[in-house]
Amino acid sequence: MGRYVYLFGGGKADGDGTQKDLLGGKGAGLAEMTRLGIPVPPGFTITTEVAVDYASRGPEHGLRDEIRAEVKAALTAVESLMKRKLGGADKPLLVSVRSGARASMPGMLDTILNLGINDDVARTLAKETGNERFAFDAYRRFIMMYSDIVLHVPRAKFEEHLDAIRYEVATKKGLSASQWNKEELKRRLPDSEIPASELEKLIGIYKDIVTRETGKPFPTDPEMQLWGAVRAVFESWNNTRAKTYRKMHGIPESWGTACNVQAMVFGNLGDDSATGVAFSRNPSTGENRFFGEWLPNAQGEDVVAGIRTPLPLSRGAESAHDTDSGSSLEVKMPEVFKKLVEVRDRLEKHFRDMQDLEFTIQKGQLFLLQCRNGKRTAQAAVRMAVEMVKEGLILPKEAILRVEASSIDQLLHPALDPKAGKTLLARGLPASPGAVSGEVVFSAEDAERRSAQGIGVILVRVETSPEDVAGMKAARGVLTARGGMTSHAAVVARGMGKCCVAGCSAISVDYAEQVMLITVYEDDGTKKDTRRIKAGDVITLDGSSGSVYLGSVPTAPAALSPEFAELMVWADAARTLRVRANADTPLDARTARNFGAEGIGLCRTEHMFFDGARIPVMWEMILATTRAAREKALDKLLPFQRGDFVGIFREMKGLPVTIRLLDPPLHEFLPQESAQLEKLARDTNTPLDELKKRSVELHEFNPMLGHRGCRLAVTYPEIYEMQVRAILEAACEVAGEGLEVLPEIMIPLVITRPELDRMRELVDRVAKTVFTKTGRTVPYFFGTMIELPRAALLAGDLTTNADFFSFGTNDLTQATMGLSRDDAGKFLPVYVEQGLLPADPFQSLDVTGVGALVRHACEKARAVKSTMKLGVCGEHGGDPASIRFFHEQKLAYVSCSPFRVPIARLAAAQAALSTVAGDTTA
Ligand code: ADP
Ligand code: MG
Ligand code: MG
Repeated sequence: MGRYVYLFGGGKADGDGTQKDLLGGKGAGLAEMTRLGIPVPPGFTITTEVAVDYASRGPEHGLRDEIRAEVKAALTAVESLMKRKLGGADKPLLVSVRSGARASMPGMLDTILNLGINDDVARTLAKETGNERFAFDAYRRFIMMYSDIVLHVPRAKFEEHLDAIRYEVATKKGLSASQWNKEELKRRLPDSEIPASELEKLIGIYKDIVTRETGKPFPTDPEMQLWGAVRAVFESWNNTRAKTYRKMHGIPESWGTACNVQAMVFGNLGDDSATGVAFSRNPSTGENRFFGEWLPNAQGEDVVAGIRTPLPLSRGAESAHDTDSGSSLEVKMPEVFKKLVEVRDRLEKHFRDMQDLEFTIQKGQLFLLQCRNGKRTAQAAVRMAVEMVKEGLILPKEAILRVEASSIDQLLHPALDPKAGKTLLARGLPASPGAVSGEVVFSAEDAERRSAQGIGVILVRVETSPEDVAGMKAARGVLTARGGMTSHAAVVARGMGKCCVAGCSAISVDYAEQVMLITVYEDDGTKKDTRRIKAGDVITLDGSSGSVYLGSVPTAPAALSPEFAELMVWADAARTLRVRANADTPLDARTARNFGAEGIGLCRTEHMFFDGARIPVMWEMILATTRAAREKALDKLLPFQRGDFVGIFREMKGLPVTIRLLDPPLHEFLPQESAQLEKLARDTNTPLDELKKRSVELHEFNPMLGHRGCRLAVTYPEIYEMQVRAILEAACEVAGEGLEVLPEIMIPLVITRPELDRMRELVDRVAKTVFTKTGRTVPYFFGTMIELPRAALLAGDLTTNADFFSFGTNDLTQATMGLSRDDAGKFLPVYVEQGLLPADPFQSLDVTGVGALVRHACEKARAVKSTMKLGVCGEHGGDPASIRFFHEQKLAYVSCSPFRVPIARLAAAQAALSTVAGDTTA
């Protein structure tokens, strides 16, 4: 530990804005503003290192002597700058003792105002200011704050008495106070209307409370007050809400907070005094317009606490409360407003980012108390970044790095109207963003039927299966009780750009009764209530937060801004990683192109078999017991598949289209109900018993490791033969229309070289037949997925006979970690919460483990064939952290759901910009 305390004041500062780690964000900002000559009350910062040292020694040991000595010296320096003395009999100094961590944790840590006051000081201040009310108000606020934070006497014990006095005063004034509740009374009779004599009485009561509760009188020695406050600020790091906030935002427990001791300035000295909060630009829309709120004759905490309705800063600006602009600071104090605007301009130019400011006006004089880069919505982030480039404030590459890639999801889907009132029912996982309302249905069939009648529905399932896809498509949104962020429902919904809340464990679905029961909990986790939602009841899903609401909550549609388009142009120029989409239909393909996809990285052919007319033919194929019967069914499927491919090739206009041949275990396609089986028996003239027997035969104990992927084609080559034929006939047809086509035929679940060789032979043989028959040749590539550890380990061997590899990181994660995607929901969240895993490996690639296999496979493949094309088609292709890893492995492309394509484009650009050696601009 070097020095412990950093001074700021009088235009000079020991620290500066770069020292956030040491001084905390607030301390660094105060130092930097002081250096810039902006009016800041003088003070000093006790470093985060001291906080960490204090905590590790144990609070019972207090502060080290050498730290106390530095603090006292710094206090003396502040005293001489202010020409006032803490506890001084003549001109007393009051200070605030403020927390301030490295990362902003707004309102989570403690701050104490008006420290240094006691009976004598209060009287002196009253005389000096000629404002007795002010002095007593500061005193009673201090006793309450200090007792709450340092002495742990709950605030409510004090507020009770203030409420009682308020009631008395109101009654004396002839107001009908008895008709109002406490909040209403507060609004009607603000603190500023409680006379000094009453406040003085209150101070006496407050002191008695402290003596009673702590067994000791309230500390009157200002220096003792200071030591108590500093220690309490350090200790506030460990209060429950701060801990919860850190967990939510990934802020390390080990950091600790700095402590700022700063001379008080007073916004509550009369109508020429005020306090306020401002953003240099609108944090919700990004508009370049000064935005903020203020309160005359008030102290800082009042604006945020919402006791009084704050007023807008500038004329014509809408405030949070739509008050009229005649009460704006611009109108009421034009001179001070002008100064504030100057400060805003200075700070924005200096920090080159939107600033969040706290200020106080004391008798017409402006003081800045805090500045930091302001938090903002995704929409605002995009607009500000692009406009700042235009203003010459930042470079395009900085604009790219400033927008959090995953946040732009919010821009692409409609959102709930923030102004609307709502009743929360439950929370699940925010699986796929968007905001939708509709009638609850409990089956895919009902979803299709009701929506065909023009009714918007929400499909609620315990979990979804491929059978439900059509119902999901028909529904406005999907809610499941089980399953994680990569559960079937989640993946499919994201692919469709459909709103989905998954794994909502508070609901239990009863299909038979057609109801879901929702357990509603109190904040402390105790069960409060059970609600019944029947089929036909209306609910609203917010897929961005995972919330489920009762009834219909209005939404506001998404409209992509011109700034967004501009940012994406810069991003595309900056990135080297290509971005493709996972798309199974011509419609998906069009959506993907609209979002800027540069090809299809994964076309899952099985999804083509679920559509109404096709599934019975699929059943026929699966249940066939002879090759001839199977081929007969396949012949019927061929035109469907060919038609889909024709549509996709047309949409993609020569961009690469990677088509994966049939992958899932066959039993996933089987008819679920006996009525369906009976109908099939009639349609195909097969005895029902035989079909049932076959259905039982197809059952597998562990289908994910069973008869699936290319294993199907080893036993039934005719399935893949039909698919390859469909692909290449479609390609020839579209080529015949004069369009370019580029099919890439991809084999799933390969584990051995001979397996791959067999598949290559099959594909090339069918290709030759098709080209001979059509009299036309089209280019095609042959490749495999790398989705099993063996394939990754022996990738070099597989390279020889393949043109490309695509890492199927979903299955690769599952197989490498031995984690079942569909069952991990029970324990994986606990792993993440307890830090046993850094993140859900199905959301963000496990770069150390699964990533090691990817790295190894790339090396081996390139050693054999330097031109080997390597890409990714797992869900990780849309995750910014994983994209960074894929960029570093120099992969050719990632592929993700169409709605994630813009995120991936931005994330790929960010990866490219931030991995340039030595460049740390952020
Ligand atoms: P937080 O980190 O929770 O915002 P702060 O330390 O910023 O807490 O304090 C809250 C408010 O108290 C500030 O916004 C400011 O209005 C007021 N405040 C803090 N220090 C002073 C001071 N020296 N003079 C006047 N007001 C102050
Ligand atoms: Mg603050
Ligand atoms: Mg797979």
